[in-house]
Amino acid sequence: MLLLAGKGYVSLDVEYIDGTKIESKANKYTFVWRKSVEKNRDKLLDKIRILLEQIDETIAQDKAAENQSVAFTPAAISDLARELKEALAEQPAARTREEKKARRAREKEIKELEKHGDKLAEYDQHLQTLGDRNSYSKSDPSATFMRMKEDAMNNGQTKPGYNLQIGTENQFITDFSLFPNPTDTLTLIPFLSSFSGRYNRLPGKAVADSGYGSEENYRFMEEHDIESFVKYNWFHKEQKRSFKNNPFLVDNLYYNAKDDYYVCPMGQHMTFVGKTHGRTASGYITESHRYRAARCEGCPLRTGCFKAKGNRSIEVNRRLVEYKRKAREKLISDEGLEHRSKRPIEPEAVFGQMKYNMAYRRFRHFGLDKVTMDFAFFAIAFNIKKMCAKAAKGISKGFYNRKITLKTAFYEVISDQNRIERKINPKWAA
Ligand code: SF4
Repeated sequence: MLLLAGKGYVSLDVEYIDGTKIESKANKYTFVWRKSVEKNRDKLLDKIRILLEQIDETIAQDKAAENQSVAFTPAAISDLARELKEALAEQPAARTREEKKARRAREKEIKELEKHGDKLAEYDQHLQTLGDRNSYSKSDPSATFMRMKEDAMNNGQTKPGYNLQIGTENQFITDFSLFPNPTDTLTLIPFLSSFSGRYNRLPGKAVADSGYGSEENYRFMEEHDIESFVKYNWFHKEQKRSFKNNPFLVDNLYYNAKDDYYVCPMGQHMTFVGKTHGRTASGYITESHRYRAARCEGCPLRTGCFKAKGNRSIEVNRRLVEYKRKAREKLISDEGLEHRSKRPIEPEAVFGQMKYNMAYRRFRHFGLDKVTMDFAFFAIAFNIKKMCAKAAKGISKGFYNRKITLKTAFYEVISDQNRIERKINPKWAA
């Protein structure tokens, strides 16, 4: 990247962002699902409770005195099993047949308790590995199960993989990160932060599709002086006549800012009734204002207006509306149009070359560290190839006036930078 930036191929001022899912090397049948782990763990805890009741009346009474949902830990269970074993060993040797039978039964119960302790430790380990995720692969614990675009069976089967986010400029990969969550919305902030980690500054402009347009992301970009050319849901729909002419949509209702009420298509005031708060998966708190019409019963426009029972109520997230307005202004400006037209030939073209021309669709290593290393090598090679292709084009057209191979271009670019720089583009030499 330093070489590319030095040669003027990239400015690192603008970043075109997009993501794709790359399959892990792990087998698709190595899944661990949070729901089944939690369900089986609860069942196991019940089994442990019942077993303890059978083993010792005293223990049962102790546990009953505590909350029913007492938290058994694997260590506590193994201590308990050890204590029971010791107590059994101290008992006088069984003589009668019944005594021997009772002793064997007790030994069996203690063994079972030990087994349950081991199983509980296994479930706890699964939950620890899962962290915030809903699934992981046993052979590649960093991989999460997600739906892939490449679905050969066409059955929507989930496979272990990573959400690869890349930033490009002039089709060079300027940044990349691998995430366990399949949705793009939550990846933008950590991804932009990874850019800052690499280059010690944030990009001046970020261009991305509507998958990234959330209040939280817009706010982050505004607070960090990143000019955002990020679409939001409904950006394209909004431009259509059918949207603009629909009087029932919240965006098209008249709003009286002075007295804080909306006016519905029948002319009725929808007054403020309260606020609602939401929390995104990353913990960001959103706030919406709620407005309600006083009487919708008997309204001739009722069928076209809304489907729920009672009077119509609407929710408006003021901050998001404002961020969307700013984003819209930017996106329909001349610069916005230019970025929007470039976006499909930036990261998406890179993904196309990567996945279909170079068949890089699946990682060849296990573990986040290794796949990160793997993709880093790929990105370096990809950038060198692209640089040489661009240099070869420039050289053959301007400097040597003959067609040269990529290999020649590579040596020329590396070994004789200044001469080529001056001839290909005088700006670089400056
Ligand atoms: S149904 Fe209610 S909110 Fe909708 S137009 Fe009629 S009065 Fe207004």
